[in-house]
Amino acid sequence: MARIKKGDTVVVLSGKDKGKTGKVLKVWPEEARALVERINLVKHFERRSQQNQAGGIVEREGALALSKLALLCPKCRKPSRIGWRLSADGGKQRICRRCQEIVN
Ligand SMILES: [Zn+2]
Repeated sequence: MARIKKGDTVVVLSGKDKGKTGKVLKVWPEEARALVERINLVKHFERRSQQNQAGGIVEREGALALSKLALLCPKCRKPSRIGWRLSADGGKQRICRRCQEIVN
């Protein structure tokens, strides 16, 4: 199970967007990569199309390594390490190691 999932708010730990926060748009757990809203923008050159009448340069998010991201805990509002705790039904729950709250 991935530490970070779609919809989480994360903090970038390194690279050109270090310190920025954004919402996770997509995660590829096998590749340990994620797409984060407005983070790691990469310029793409696009041809004119039906959707994009003007064509030209557009910015899009590029995938980031999960190791460069930390979950921003929704409870304590700090970048946190994730721990695991077994739930009553035997499943795993993510917990914030900082405040020990369950983060789902
Ligand atoms: Zn917390």
